[in-house]
Amino acid sequence: RTPVPSDIEVSRSCTPKPIGLLAKEIGLLSEEVELYGQTKCKVLLSTLRRLKDHPDGKYVVVTGITPTPLGEGKSTTTFGLAQALGAHLNRNTFACVRQPSQGPTFGIKGGAAGGGYSQVIPMEEFNLHLTGDIHAITAANNLVAAAIDARMFHEKTQSDQALYSHLVPAVSGARRFSDIQIRRLQRLGITKTDPEALTNEEINNFVRLDIDPHTITWQRVLDTNDRFLRKISIGQSLTEKGFSRMAQFDITVASEIMAVLALTDSLEDMRSRLGKMVVASSEKGEPVTTEDLGVSGAVTVLMKDAIKPNLMQSLEGTPVFVHAGPFANIAHGNSSVLADKIALKLVGQEGFVVTEAGFGADIGMEKFFNIKCRYSGLCPHAVVLVATVRALKMHGGGPTVTAGVPLPKEYAEENLQLLTKGCSNLVKQIQNARTFGVPVVVAVNAFKSDTEAELQLVAQLAREAGAFDAVTCTHWAEGGKGAVALAQAVQRATETPSHFRFLYDVQLPIAVKIRIIAQQIYGADDIELLPEAEQKVALYTKQGFGSLPICMAKTHLSLSHEPERKGVPTGFILPIRDIRASIGAGFLYPLVGTMSTMPGLPTRPCFYDIDLDPVSEEVIGLF
Ligand code: ADP
Repeated sequence: RTPVPSDIEVSRSCTPKPIGLLAKEIGLLSEEVELYGQTKCKVLLSTLRRLKDHPDGKYVVVTGITPTPLGEGKSTTTFGLAQALGAHLNRNTFACVRQPSQGPTFGIKGGAAGGGYSQVIPMEEFNLHLTGDIHAITAANNLVAAAIDARMFHEKTQSDQALYSHLVPAVSGARRFSDIQIRRLQRLGITKTDPEALTNEEINNFVRLDIDPHTITWQRVLDTNDRFLRKISIGQSLTEKGFSRMAQFDITVASEIMAVLALTDSLEDMRSRLGKMVVASSEKGEPVTTEDLGVSGAVTVLMKDAIKPNLMQSLEGTPVFVHAGPFANIAHGNSSVLADKIALKLVGQEGFVVTEAGFGADIGMEKFFNIKCRYSGLCPHAVVLVATVRALKMHGGGPTVTAGVPLPKEYAEENLQLLTKGCSNLVKQIQNARTFGVPVVVAVNAFKSDTEAELQLVAQLAREAGAFDAVTCTHWAEGGKGAVALAQAVQRATETPSHFRFLYDVQLPIAVKIRIIAQQIYGADDIELLPEAEQKVALYTKQGFGSLPICMAKTHLSLSHEPERKGVPTGFILPIRDIRASIGAGFLYPLVGTMSTMPGLPTRPCFYDIDLDPVSEEVIGLF
């Protein structure tokens, strides 16, 4: 099997089982499955209702040390471990992962289907449109954006009475409020249900949201790395002139609707979250929501299929849920609660669900525990912490690792000194995982250039640092067979009692929660709230959003806020530049430094290599 062919060649060398057959084998009823061709299907939420009294399987989260920009193999290990548990140890197993954005697929990183002989297939379906969930989010998000600007425009150009007659039209001669409007009236303290009975003042309150344009936090989105949309001017046509304003596009996966999709646990809950999203403040400083705009019902309709998890399979036939893909920096970077919940029921008490958290353990895992598990109520049984020799050498002082540039020689030759020093990062991330009371198994993801002595050293230092076990794995080169020892260690870890606990109480003041994460997980001496962040603490506390969990927006390339500081940085104060709110998703996100919410394309983007063979209709050049 050496050398390992390209990811797409490996992916294509394997014929996937018809997805309907796989669905049947894992216990889904035909009425719980909606086929999208032969290789993917959606699973209905009725499955969860049918299985609600069944016991859950073991819940395992895959995370990593602080990575290089190349990634250290979390996705690959998620599939490799699931293949080992499912196809080699014959345990019911599900892998649950995020749906990748087209931004990185066509940009720098390429796809996210795993790699080598540990992948989800077909990788071109996985990496591109899948079943259209991201397109649905784009549509839903941009409907809200259009609603905001149109509403401001109409409020500015029409009288109260004219607005009222448009917003509450007469049906068969009599005006009637819609349910959404009745809820808005109730929030305004107006109990009348007869539209003719409202006073002029009440009509004014009802029809005018008085959005302060400077406070709009809702942006338009697109799932493309299009850097020229980072700052734009909208309303330049003569018909809107006078209402022009500066705005921006974010990448779709950075949108709040994506985070809502990932955190919701039912259609009712999603409807409620999609109505609670705060898009701006009014001139009086009150939050303006999607429900106030009257758009939340329509947004829910656009999302009604996206809420159903997508079923695919690994190279070795293990079922895989691909569902939701929130950005791991400004959002929480974890796949959906619903996919994990359904998978836990389907695998049953003796089975395993392996779910992946984005970025390093200081970010993705912390948010997995403090945000995702808090909302889902699920209790994790083990953490798998992926480490590579190359990333640890970098933490030990090795030269910078850059995507697209060959690795310097330190990474091709044995160097136990650099490696020992760099293991400080592994030790800290093991401690971070143990802070949550869950056993940690370290997966040393072996690369061709690693020596036996290097691999042994990492495992030994990991055990000394309190890991439950540490195992070298070769699933990239060998598939599930290469992760059997890891799977056995994970199995043993999940048999030990888990003492899972959250890091902080959500009722604590906002700044206290941020400080706990900064000090205990990142190793900061303290935090510094810059003026904008101070103002937001006051605003969100006053608006009643103070008791939401915290979703730190920090670089993933260092435990600190400075990406070039490797290993375990000490003696730093974490600056909090600003704080934003995703009220529907249910978290506040402090910005540590500047975060781009719209990536750009590099000089040589991945799309240069991508093409379609018109004869075979096969996609070429994806990786
Ligand atoms: P992450 O999920 O941590 O970002 P991925 O699993 O996507 O990382 O892996 C990043 C890249 O590295 C992928 O292209 C994958 O194929 C490759 N890769 C992962 N593990 C290995 C390995 N052991 N040897 C060679 N390449 C690997």
